[in-house]
Amino acid sequence: AVIDASGTWRTPNPLGAGGIAAEGEAEFADRIAYGIPDILGRDRALYGGRATLVAGSGHSAANALLDLARVADDEPGTTFIWTTRGTDLVRIYGGGDLDALPARGELGSDVRDLAESGRVQLVTGFATTAIREEDGRLIVEGDTADGLRRIGPIDRIVAATGQRPDLSLTRELRLDLDPWLEGVRALGPLIDPNEHSCGDVPPHGHRELSHPEPGVYTVGIKSYGRAPTFLLLTGYEQVRSVAAALAGDVASADAVQLVLPETGVCTVPGGVTVTGKTFAGCCGGPAPEAADGCCVADAEAKAAGRGGCGCGVAA
Ligand SMILES: Cc1cc2nc3c(=O)[nH]c(=O)nc-3n(C[C@H](O)[C@H](O)[C@H](O)COP(=O)(O)OP(=O)(O)OC[C@H]3O[C@@H](n4cnc5c(N)ncnc54)[C@H](O)[C@@H]3O)c2cc1C
Repeated sequence: AVIDASGTWRTPNPLGAGGIAAEGEAEFADRIAYGIPDILGRDRALYGGRATLVAGSGHSAANALLDLARVADDEPGTTFIWTTRGTDLVRIYGGGDLDALPARGELGSDVRDLAESGRVQLVTGFATTAIREEDGRLIVEGDTADGLRRIGPIDRIVAATGQRPDLSLTRELRLDLDPWLEGVRALGPLIDPNEHSCGDVPPHGHRELSHPEPGVYTVGIKSYGRAPTFLLLTGYEQVRSVAAALAGDVASADAVQLVLPETGVCTVPGGVTVTGKTFAGCCGGPAPEAADGCCVADAEAKAAGRGGCGCGVAA
């Protein structure tokens, strides 16, 4: 058997909003950091006293912005601008106290406070197209609803625009992948970030993680493809199931147990049907009405004895 657990960390998405490198992105690569640079540690000298643009609307961008704010507290002249391709920041601001992972909720609340404090210039609906140099500093160009906009001058860019799987390793194998997310097909409809924000996913194991190519499995964050919501807890149960299947213990491999901490942000009403099974979808609206913090749809499922609070409730 082959278990592909090679992650997505080495293949960050480009800054270019269309999914290919922006004009100038390769030329000025020495001034761009992908993911979360070590702003408070070894990279501090690169950011202190300088102007940085942070692109992205996920937790990586939030971490980078909060780190830059701390540097700015100590080093005058440290400024930062935040650009997001989308205009709705409800997911990054998160569920606050409703988030079952307190630190994740706090991260969202902190970055919202930062944005609302005015310390960071927030530009939403900005689709980066080009990076240019003027007088030794950088200008970032992007499309907006009002046409071309130029931001700068700045000194550095943090591209917190997510990761994608590197599929070259398995290119000669018959893999069954979700056409949008490039993760395993069975999980795609359940984790598509365009549809889901609640952070939960139904229990899944060796069957969902296998492919037409016999003996091949994709596990870990790579199984989610481009979706950014993977948690280690999911991976532990994935590999337990796959290992049990390879050891011939089908009963154990099929007995997948997974309850994930929800984000407290649910944006999609209704259910999702995957491989013949329907799962209650994330509930409608950011403000759950059930007293215990469960989404309404899930509370109904719970009352009917079909499970607890979350999207992963078989309807
Ligand atoms: C910034 C960030 C923060 C996160 N924080 C959390 C968190 O707090 N809690 C949580 O539960 N989850 C978190 N996650 C999500 C997820 O749990 C982690 O990304 C986790 O590390 C994924 O584990 P993995 O084993 O699938 O991939 P990885 O940890 O990326 O491991 C993949 C490994 O495969 C190796 N590799 C790659 N290609 C090859 C190859 N061709 N041959 C051999 N080896 C190869 C890599 O070098 C790497 O060591 C976070 C993710 C990110 C990006």
